[in-house]
Amino acid sequence: MNENKQNLLKTLPQIDKLVKETSLRYQEISVLEIKQACQQALSSIRQEILSDQLTSVTVSDIFEKINTCLTTEPDYHLTSVINATGTILHTNLGRSLLSKKVRNHLNDVAYHYCNLEYDVNEGKRGSRYQHLTEIVKDLTGAEDVLVVNNNAAAIMLALRAIANDKEIIVSRGELVEIGGSFRIPEVIKLSGGTLVEVGTTNKTHLTDYKQAITENTGALLKVHTSNYRLIGFTEQPSLEEMASLAKQKQLPLVNDLGSGLFFDLQKFGLPYEPIIQEALSKGCDIVTFSGDKLLGGPQAGIIVGKREWIEKMRQDQLLRALRVDKLTLAALEATFMLYQNKEQAFANIPTLKMISKDLTICHEEASQLKKAIDDKTIGFRAQIVPSKSNIGGGSFPEEEMNSVAISLSSDNYSLIELEEKLRKGSIPIISRIYQNQLLLDCRTIDPSEHQLILNELITLQGANE
Ligand SMILES: *Cc1c(COP(=O)(O)O)cnc(C)c1O
Repeated sequence: MNENKQNLLKTLPQIDKLVKETSLRYQEISVLEIKQACQQALSSIRQEILSDQLTSVTVSDIFEKINTCLTTEPDYHLTSVINATGTILHTNLGRSLLSKKVRNHLNDVAYHYCNLEYDVNEGKRGSRYQHLTEIVKDLTGAEDVLVVNNNAAAIMLALRAIANDKEIIVSRGELVEIGGSFRIPEVIKLSGGTLVEVGTTNKTHLTDYKQAITENTGALLKVHTSNYRLIGFTEQPSLEEMASLAKQKQLPLVNDLGSGLFFDLQKFGLPYEPIIQEALSKGCDIVTFSGDKLLGGPQAGIIVGKREWIEKMRQDQLLRALRVDKLTLAALEATFMLYQNKEQAFANIPTLKMISKDLTICHEEASQLKKAIDDKTIGFRAQIVPSKSNIGGGSFPEEEMNSVAISLSSDNYSLIELEEKLRKGSIPIISRIYQNQLLLDCRTIDPSEHQLILNELITLQGANE
């Protein structure tokens, strides 16, 4: 080591002294954090001296380094990514995004005490399940409401209350598996009920249900076949027919809707899907749906329907194991608030916003991104191409929505390398390779993310110079 380097290393302050001085500057930060930052800063400066990146060090250099260490975000394992796949409800990427309007309410509830289980008017213990009751009743027309951890939990709790030790009749065409671990036959078993399958894979008639009803029957269950479609020679009785049969036999009709759809989405080119209010008004006794699919809220399972059954679910000891926390309740209530006005919902809930994003807007955003890439980077080529996005999350399996994508290529990387480089960047960009093109789909990219994409490309370009 040359003398200059050695001398420079000797001039670095002792850690104890540095911690003391730093503590005076940052009185609100704990000594432990300050100590870590000082150690980190000193070790990084040492490295830079040894690798000849630094040939002189001033006191202000050292404090600047410490300041950086104190203010940069830690390297979290769970991090945000840019979803350029075009799949709106990507289960692997966290399904729905919360609305920014939800953020204030989350902040309020997270950083202060709240009335989670306290009745402010009465001055005594309240229920965490109360907070959503009125608003969801208003929105759906249901008699009562209960919220649990997810829809899988919702359907299990509902079946336990309704048909424990009894038979549950389900069409063979509806015995679905969702997401690898939710299988209707298993869930029925876990609920304590016995599955009675009726009909065939492609056709189930009302008489099939009728003939299967005995004194041991506890419920008729209808499951939305969210993630697959039967096409061709198929038949299922309508919801009205099933409801009228259930009523006649004095049996409850339970409907696992999967997605929580409040508004018809046919005008965006999607096929008819049952909406929650409709399932209830057509005579379902209990309807369950997810909070983080089309509803666009946090992960949750929402149960709506007849008071007598929901009251029974409230009494179940299992509810405690399935209960939601205050942050989920806050995010859900704020999301439901947006549903009070349709325009407000479409303008603010990212899932609905992406579904309703007009093709011309997708195109405009793609043009902006292309222009930025053309202007700011060398070695990358961006081309605007038509693309197909889909809803995902097990909703609308067959349907693709027209979209617009950037087809990105590089002078220095193959498509496969580029996909990997983007994915492993400082903000992971999840793209997709389709028909020998690397696509960045503008339906799921927010324009506020364009700069981040650009920064990553500039970094990649720098790595090649
Ligand atoms: C998605 C889905 C579920 C599971 O919901 P989670 O909220 O993921 O637990 C259950 N049933 C149907 C029909 C679904 O589409």
